[in-house]
Amino acid sequence: MYKISLITGDGIGPELSESAVSVLDTIHDKHGLKFEIAKLSAGDAALRETGKALPDEAVNAISNSQVCLKAPVGESAADVIVVLRRMLDLYANIRPAKSYPNMPALRDDIDMVIVRENTEDLYTGKEFSLGDASVALRIISERASKRIAKYAFETAMQRNSKKKVTCVHKSNVMRVTDGMFAKACADVSKNYPDVSFEQMYVDACAMNLIRQPDQFDVIVTTNLFGDILSDESSQVVGGLGMAPAANIGDDFALFEPVHGAAFDIAGKNIANPSSFLLSIKMMFDWLGAKYNDKKCIDMGQKLESTIFDLVKTGMKTKDIGGDMTTDAFTREITKNL
Ligand code: ATP
Repeated sequence: MYKISLITGDGIGPELSESAVSVLDTIHDKHGLKFEIAKLSAGDAALRETGKALPDEAVNAISNSQVCLKAPVGESAADVIVVLRRMLDLYANIRPAKSYPNMPALRDDIDMVIVRENTEDLYTGKEFSLGDASVALRIISERASKRIAKYAFETAMQRNSKKKVTCVHKSNVMRVTDGMFAKACADVSKNYPDVSFEQMYVDACAMNLIRQPDQFDVIVTTNLFGDILSDESSQVVGGLGMAPAANIGDDFALFEPVHGAAFDIAGKNIANPSSFLLSIKMMFDWLGAKYNDKKCIDMGQKLESTIFDLVKTGMKTKDIGGDMTTDAFTREITKNL
């Protein structure tokens, strides 16, 4: 029995959470993998109701679970996810960008993953006013840089692909901070002779993601650059509706879509739940590796191939060129699992 905490979120979050629970219930009933799901409120609604975007009950429930699923939250995202990442030391943010069939995508041969440092950079919230200026501290440590570099190389070793790590930074301008990040990655690369290593400035990378995205395998980068480049890479393969993410630490992990609460389409039953369902696929991979549970690994593959097969036949939500509702798409998934 796996104990899963689920932040149901704001905007399209509750619709995506319903889809996720329905898929997990089907797996629980039909495939012998057992879950106990604790639903939690955190985000804008929690802030309105309790005065806290991340109430203590939510933190306690997450601490009592083995893994967390998080639907997108709204304006208070920084007070929820950025806090959780640091609180739980979820230092690796993993954002795959992979071609699925029949997508409004630039090309159909992309398979890359962005490994983003998740605890430092401009996201630590260390901002203040100084006279008429506003200052934000950009903190990059050698320890965190080496830790994320190691994660990126290990990821490259496990993938059946090009076995290449591209370190993305802007060390020609930010010589001290990004200079150190680049050096840390280069140092770690020496321990992985089977993985090729290259460095790229972030502006060149933003261009190459559109010009020649098939050249990438694993990108490792700092927090802010990773946030921006992963939205771009998800668009390159068909959009945010298909974009999952994992936040991984040594003992705990949290899985969430790349996108935000998408208030413009909330409550309309048109959101694409694939971003969350593919995040659940990543959860199964992580649980399978952590608890040596082949059933989880197999279930992850089954869930991904079910989504793959559906979109291939044109059964898709509106964001990727189809006409299915969130509910109808979810029903097809559960039927085919
Ligand atoms: P944030 O800053 O919190 O990431 P954002 O304002 O940049 O949020 P998102 O919510 O991430 O915006 O999404 C941008 C747009 O992409 C949405 O307004 C919505 O139209 C579309 N979108 C995002 N996720 C989905 C989804 N799962 N299904 C369909 N469309 C989506």
